[in-house]
Amino acid sequence: MYNIIAIDGTSGSGKGTIAKEVARRLNYTYIDTGAMYRCVALKSLEDNISLDEEDKMVNLLKNMDIRLTNDGKVYLDGRDVSTEIRTEEINDRVPKVANIVPLRLVMKDKQREMATKSDVVMEGRDITTHIFPDAKYKFYIDASIDIRAERRYKQNLEKGIESTLEEVKKNLEERDYNDMNRNTIGALKRTPEQHYIDNGKNTLEESVNEILKIVGEE
Ligand code: C5P
Repeated sequence: MYNIIAIDGTSGSGKGTIAKEVARRLNYTYIDTGAMYRCVALKSLEDNISLDEEDKMVNLLKNMDIRLTNDGKVYLDGRDVSTEIRTEEINDRVPKVANIVPLRLVMKDKQREMATKSDVVMEGRDITTHIFPDAKYKFYIDASIDIRAERRYKQNLEKGIESTLEEVKKNLEERDYNDMNRNTIGALKRTPEQHYIDNGKNTLEESVNEILKIVGEE
């Protein structure tokens, strides 16, 4: 049995950066499950599949080869889509893809399968609750909405993306709402078993060390 470190958290909390660094330090495989949903959003757009064609969406995922590398690169059927899956168009489409229940069930199989090959740090919204409810190590990473918005706004400036702080904040609030109120399976939830990491109060290094300490201690 391989070790699983399951991480959930809000958009823009820094959970991806933390998960990647924890994986690097422990020599585990890093799995960004959001990137997997993004691949489905991209491919369905390219293949002209509409969001209400659920069977087609599910088949698309079933036949898709998604490869994630430890430095955060994403390969879809052998093609590097790391940048393409992070456009505004995909940002808008992916929450709707993530709301398709039968698709989430296929994701569950795929994600569980990925953890049968090596130790993993898996990060997303339903990893601690739905994908690996029995994982030994579970974390919820968060930061206040103002801190997340401020950080995302600065990242956008650096990337040359035009946005106002208010727009960024509103967008994050919408994402939180959608993630937390998915009315079927896979909603983002706080549970008593998760270790809560406040990555607004902490620096990245402190958050990573907090996780490593818990993993080492238990
Ligand atoms: O984390 P990221 O923003 O890349 O996730 C992309 C989308 O996939 C988000 O809309 C998020 O709600 C969804 N998602 C999900 N379940 C996961 C991971 C991501 O519904 N385990």
